[in-house]
Amino acid sequence: MEQQRIVIVGAGAAGLSAAATVRAEGYEGPLTIINGEVHRPYNRTLVNKGVLSGLLTAEQIAQPGSSALDADAIQGKAGSVDPDLAILTLEDGRRLRYDALIAASGSAPQLSDHAAAISERVFHLHTVDDADRLRAQFAKDPGGLTVTILGAGFIGSEVASSMSEAGAHVHLVSRSSMPLASALGEHIAARITELHSNHVTTHFGQSFTNISTGSDSATVTLSDGRVLESDVVLIAHGTKPNTAWLTGGDGGIAVDSRLRSRDYRGVYAAGSIALHTARTGQLYRIDHWDAAVAQGAHAARAALHDLHGAPDPAAYTPDSGFTVTLYQHSAAAYGAAMPGVTERHHDTGSTEALLTSFHNTDGAMIAVAGLNAFPQLFTACAQLRTP
Ligand SMILES: Cc1cc2nc3c(=O)[nH]c(=O)nc-3n(C[C@H](O)[C@H](O)[C@H](O)COP(=O)(O)OP(=O)(O)OC[C@H]3O[C@@H](n4cnc5c(N)ncnc54)[C@H](O)[C@@H]3O)c2cc1C
Repeated sequence: MEQQRIVIVGAGAAGLSAAATVRAEGYEGPLTIINGEVHRPYNRTLVNKGVLSGLLTAEQIAQPGSSALDADAIQGKAGSVDPDLAILTLEDGRRLRYDALIAASGSAPQLSDHAAAISERVFHLHTVDDADRLRAQFAKDPGGLTVTILGAGFIGSEVASSMSEAGAHVHLVSRSSMPLASALGEHIAARITELHSNHVTTHFGQSFTNISTGSDSATVTLSDGRVLESDVVLIAHGTKPNTAWLTGGDGGIAVDSRLRSRDYRGVYAAGSIALHTARTGQLYRIDHWDAAVAQGAHAARAALHDLHGAPDPAAYTPDSGFTVTLYQHSAAAYGAAMPGVTERHHDTGSTEALLTSFHNTDGAMIAVAGLNAFPQLFTACAQLRTP
């Protein structure tokens, strides 16, 4: 009889974690990982913190390869799936039968209607190649460079901080008048807004209507008519899931509590493509490294449970965290904060340390965030519940 085959699409945080878990749980059958990157798998969180700053190379942020996981690695991209036949077809036409398919293809930068094509002066920051291209511009004249960053989410904010510390003049543009409020709460976001305005030129509550590029500059027009001239523009508008190969669209893969796809039999989804449902019915994705690692492991255990009767992994609880360092201040959060929850601010005994918890309508704490407040944050984490 043919052995059951597990196929994993994506060799990032979730995909490699799924592969490692499958082996750690004792599965000895065929395991295939489809790596859609041109590089060896790497830690994406170090793309801006390591590669962009020039501290680390692509080789230095590489993850353990598939050989360490005793898996077949296929360089290529998933193209489509026939869920009835349980066949995955790669973009180059190769076909693979699967018994369990773990979708872990991550996300891609969100484009903008007004954005000029990515060019020598207009950038995204998602891959090591993006970081190398942007760094090449920066290396020409670090202290004299003017950068316009469109979007003050985690990546836009972190790059604004690191580039201004390196001497660049930074324009930071955000549609929101208080960026990061949805992830960290208004109390912490207000302090971060203040930090930004102390270090970079902020244009908050503004969208942009046009980007044009010339031979030696890029011009961004804001919604209030102001025009920003800079050497380079970074578009940091968040991400959209890489799901076209499975769903034909980019809306994510809806999963149940065990991370099984709700729509495709034999398919599981983990990481930033997975679309979870809160008790309120609200759909949400989590685009953070530790959550992707946790979900990869969870989806692997669910697949082994369904294929081989391994123990049920129970419902996935989003209790992982992330940290972000801005102008020497550290913000961190655990759980999954989402619009509509109630925020509570806690007295930490210090004006420098801020702590906010997020609660469901039934009072359960589903997320907690802190600024310069790691000890208080870790204590609060023990009380996290599923959204
Ligand atoms: C610059 C940057 C900095 C970040 N910093 C942080 C941080 O400090 N902390 C934090 O918690 N999070 C951070 N994140 C977010 C974090 O990296 C992601 O949430 C995490 O990588 C998601 O894991 P994933 O496995 O879902 O996707 P990924 O790790 O992106 O892996 C998905 C893989 O699938 C591949 N793929 C895509 N399509 C296909 C296909 N059709 N076939 C085969 N393979 C495919 C992709 O190329 C990729 O290699 C950062 C992200 C970026 C871009």
